[in-house]
Amino acid sequence: MSYIDLKSAPKREDRLKACIAHGGSVCDLGGKGKKSCLVDDGERGFTQGSICLLLPALAMLNTLPDNVVLMHSAIGCGTCTHSQNANVRFGGNVRWGKVKDGTWLSTALNETDVISGGDAKLEQAIIEADKRYQPFSISVVSGCVPGIIGDDIDTVVKQVQPLVNAKLLPVHCEGFKTKIWATAYDAVYHSIGRTLLESTTSEKGAGEGGDAGLAPYQGLERLPRTVNLMNVSSMGRIDELELTRLLTGLGLAVNVFPVFAHPEGMVTATQAALSISTCPTHDDYFLTYLEERFGVPYLLKHMPIGIENTGLWLRDVARHFGAEEQGEEIIRREEAELHAALAEFRPLFTGKTVFVSAGEFRALATARLLEELGFRVVGIRSFHHDAFAEGEYEKLAASAVEDYPIDIANVQPFEEVNLLKRVKPDLFLGHANGNATAAKLGIPTHVIYNTGLAYIGYRGAYDLARRLARQRKNPSYNRRLAENLRLPYTDDWYQSPPFSYINTRGGVTA
Ligand code: SF4
Repeated sequence: MSYIDLKSAPKREDRLKACIAHGGSVCDLGGKGKKSCLVDDGERGFTQGSICLLLPALAMLNTLPDNVVLMHSAIGCGTCTHSQNANVRFGGNVRWGKVKDGTWLSTALNETDVISGGDAKLEQAIIEADKRYQPFSISVVSGCVPGIIGDDIDTVVKQVQPLVNAKLLPVHCEGFKTKIWATAYDAVYHSIGRTLLESTTSEKGAGEGGDAGLAPYQGLERLPRTVNLMNVSSMGRIDELELTRLLTGLGLAVNVFPVFAHPEGMVTATQAALSISTCPTHDDYFLTYLEERFGVPYLLKHMPIGIENTGLWLRDVARHFGAEEQGEEIIRREEAELHAALAEFRPLFTGKTVFVSAGEFRALATARLLEELGFRVVGIRSFHHDAFAEGEYEKLAASAVEDYPIDIANVQPFEEVNLLKRVKPDLFLGHANGNATAAKLGIPTHVIYNTGLAYIGYRGAYDLARRLARQRKNPSYNRRLAENLRLPYTDDWYQSPPFSYINTRGGVTA
């Protein structure tokens, strides 16, 4: 039996033994022969607020054109959509020259629904959304409340589907089920697979899956030079174009999937010759499924951020298509041009120290790029840890001038501030909503991801260097912030070991 045959995707704590609480070092995690599968995840005796898996799930679902997102939840769930809508509008505009808001609704479950059940309300909402917006699809996304009171969105979807024109996609995002929000990628992929791909391929006359549904579907036309380029919203259009440029250099056609992909055309993903991950943290669940069910092989090893990593990523693709020489020629040409262009920035970076914070693979690949630019990495916070990142830790351990801390933390700014006070970096790279602590300490910050900026491939390496050079030249904004703001932590905490609360199971260990 495959995961896709289950009603919902398993949480990553179970499927990958992923963890969210570990205080270690780069040599600890990347040392030779070290197994970095940290199964003894006792979590923290103290924890600060974090996000739930709705945020990444909605970041994907809201980009789908002709799709309505219907939250089955309390009214506050999914309000992150308000901040994500700029990306939906911008992304649509740069792809199709059309500015369009995402469409999201909520059943706004109240106290009466919690007692009486919300199934009838959901049924009415689906019918109303179908009538009012006439979308190709409606994603029915469940938050915590239906999971607690026992509303069964799958049964409601099954009952209502014959009454509406839109294809209904149940997406399980009950926030209490997992603390690893990367489970959201699996939840969305799970729904796309079960509802859009399996039903569409059946309609097109493809054969049924074999025993346990695992045999590849037969009868679908294979597209021998088309590759799936996976993007779960961690690349903007500018980065998609950079990778498309490199892949078309190998004579390949590129199907970017799933963000901003029309649900009707998603079946193309099942016909591709190869799926290429841009981040193993995001894609393993779906790429395994595409291979099992449709016979589409995949590459899931490198993230094309940084000079070395982009070369490794492209080499793997070239090798798959027997185009090694072509690949080497592209890499030679691109690297020569890039190194010449970076020369003017290197004096500004050499020997400067940097702390990096992001989802695991992005943090590690970006740290490697910063080393390539001349920085010295002095600390990393990864939002969770799983075995896919072992190779990246090994690379960083091999290139580290001296050991430095690695904080596996689903944000936890109290640990971050403690570490920053100790390692005193010259620069901090983190997500837009995660840069505040460093900024208030007076450390120049730069956003590690923004859909309007380039980060990926050779162009991303150059553009990041150019932006950091500008930042390095004028750090006065952060200096002034630090002069006028204070953080809420006590001196006692700054004197305490940064990982004091990890694995304490409710109490502090000295
Ligand atoms: S944790 Fe639960 S209640 Fe809170 S936003 Fe997420 S789904 Fe809604």
